[in-house]
Amino acid sequence: MVAARDGQIVFVGPAAALDAHLTVLPGAVRIDARGGTVVPGFVDPHTHVVYAGDRLQEVRRRLAGATYAEIAAAGGGILRTVADTRRASEDDLVTTASARLDEMAACGTTTCEVKSGYGLTTDAELRLLRAIRRLDAGHPLDLVPTFLGAHEIPKEFRSNPEAFVALVTGEMIPAVAAESLAEWCDVFCESGAFTPAQSLAILEAGRRHGLKPRIHADELGASGGWRVAVEAGARSADHLVFVDAEGARALAGAGVCAVLLPAASLYLKLGRYAPARLLIDTGVPVALGTDINPGAGFSPSMPFAMTLACFAMDMTLEEALIAATLNAAWALDRADAVGSLERGKRMDAVIVEGDAINLVRAGARAIRAVIKNGKVIVQ
Ligand SMILES: [Zn+2]
Repeated sequence: MVAARDGQIVFVGPAAALDAHLTVLPGAVRIDARGGTVVPGFVDPHTHVVYAGDRLQEVRRRLAGATYAEIAAAGGGILRTVADTRRASEDDLVTTASARLDEMAACGTTTCEVKSGYGLTTDAELRLLRAIRRLDAGHPLDLVPTFLGAHEIPKEFRSNPEAFVALVTGEMIPAVAAESLAEWCDVFCESGAFTPAQSLAILEAGRRHGLKPRIHADELGASGGWRVAVEAGARSADHLVFVDAEGARALAGAGVCAVLLPAASLYLKLGRYAPARLLIDTGVPVALGTDINPGAGFSPSMPFAMTLACFAMDMTLEEALIAATLNAAWALDRADAVGSLERGKRMDAVIVEGDAINLVRAGARAIRAVIKNGKVIVQ
């Protein structure tokens, strides 16, 4: 039995022991899990859920054989979403993202990280982060804001990427910090995006302004992102599809969390997944996320990410569950507040129909209810 007051867990233990520990208030709401399994609310540590427009035609093209690089060369990809997002108002961004957060909640997510990165000008990045702040205040889910001004090099800086890096470090980061709009600074370290040296400079500039580092690393190739993560003291290195044994040892030694996003591998048809077993067996803490985004993150579902973790990355159900809850909370520096059902933490939980293994029956109605801060938000 789990008991909570004002959204905070005050008791976890056998029902028979409850009366010895506390008095149940007369107006208390009782929820009977009726043979189901109660697990912590899912924490999604990597999303790009605030954006305008969609790229559904690109998905069709990808299914017909086009590669990520071909789509980008034809004006698609991130820059297409950047163009749509620059035209969108803050109100529009809040409205469209709120509906996406509802979908995530229906899949059991109760806390999520959200990145900027579809503005790529100071004004547009600030607009995205203000939208994230409004969503955090107005939506039942708790949002953790990340500044990702270095998501892609915008068209107007293609001939001079260093000038864009200077804009990110010299203007965007100070402006974001001045309004306290982000907790984390992220960078897309990849061939064609930001080099390891540029990535490190951006994360260090963020750190100087109080933004903690995390990084997109080694997703489409061996970008050297894991080295930057280690050097910058990043809390997490995300994707890691191309990390090797040397990288795994370095990440373990530096205490960097690997945030794995198997749905991105699937929807991008990369033909491979991050080496989860190597990472776990080397001692790297592994978390799971959805990577919701308009280009390749088509599933809002943490249970679907868990399914891929189990059946494409050889993780056990228990490893996947911990990766989707406590480790994901730690990846966001929220392990003191969410990620497990413990006294003092938020009353965030998912009631699963029957055994927890039902979570990996993709498409089945495995979730009976979702509870956030002690309130039933999905039933
Ligand atoms: Zn991402």
